[in-house]
Amino acid sequence: MIISTERGKRPSDFVRESVVTQGKGNCPFCYGNEAKTPPEILVYGRNSGGANSPGWSIRVVPNKFPALGIEGELDREGEGLFDKMNGIGAHEVIIETPDHNATLATLPERAIEDVLWAYRDRMLDLKNDKRFRYVLIFKNHGEAAGASLEHPHSQLIALPIVPKQVREEVDSCKHYYHEKERCIFCDIIRQEVDTGVRVVGETEYFITLAPYAPRFPFEMWILPKVHGSSFENNQSPVYSSLARTLKDTLMRLDAVLDRPAYNSMIHTSPIGEEINDHYHWHIEVIPKLTKVAGFEWGTGFYICPTPPEEAAKFLRDAQVGVAQPTH
Ligand SMILES: [Zn+2]
Ligand SMILES: [Zn+2]
Ligand SMILES: [Zn+2]
Repeated sequence: MIISTERGKRPSDFVRESVVTQGKGNCPFCYGNEAKTPPEILVYGRNSGGANSPGWSIRVVPNKFPALGIEGELDREGEGLFDKMNGIGAHEVIIETPDHNATLATLPERAIEDVLWAYRDRMLDLKNDKRFRYVLIFKNHGEAAGASLEHPHSQLIALPIVPKQVREEVDSCKHYYHEKERCIFCDIIRQEVDTGVRVVGETEYFITLAPYAPRFPFEMWILPKVHGSSFENNQSPVYSSLARTLKDTLMRLDAVLDRPAYNSMIHTSPIGEEINDHYHWHIEVIPKLTKVAGFEWGTGFYICPTPPEEAAKFLRDAQVGVAQPTH
């Protein structure tokens, strides 16, 4: 990564549009439009009324335009020197709230926690499908970050192969563990807590850091403070603490960068490797402030115009009143 202090950018130097809702229009994720999505897979909060009717607090539905199809057997074949397989997978949408104008940052902690439980429920269910090797949960917030609908939602894609980025991350952690018999993320947390300069916030079970070598300005990682190798195998206090941390982190992002578009993703262990000492699950949050261009595509290097220590300071000093670093 290249930290370009020459280009040193403060939050106000980034030219972008804030994410603001335009209005419900004919939003397929709002109450009354349940028939406009494929039938629901999971619902929270509806005590009466039939399936696919209003009254819910969270709804999970198949993506209407899925990247991968759920039906069929995996079929791998060679085509000359190339390999191909059919596009089997699951692509679901987690509708986080009936409130069109809310965001994950503005939802009450309790509602955010329910979103996390919905993630977990879907992950555990999809892991029973022997065709799948990885379940990625991610969020595109704002049009600039790839969201085509403004109603608050996350997405889930179950894949028949472990994605390259995840494989590389897990394997690098494994390599480090074999050498030192310590988890690299646990080591990072220990060191970051000691120096404090890249710490953004802390709750009982989680810490939010600006990574030492960020790809993007104001990139953040949310990590459990006690080693854990998978998102889906945790006790309930962990999810409530994560809800608190997520809210705090996203509110800081909104305050410092005036509600930017962002992407976030959960990195957890691949299916079948859930319990281990080398991989430490986490959430990566990447605000959409810069463009990935020729240099990045051509090299895999990223030019980050804001040093992580400065980004962390702006984020840490933001007045949002949820969690504070404890040192
Ligand atoms: Zn809506
Ligand atoms: Zn660890
Ligand atoms: Zn990661």
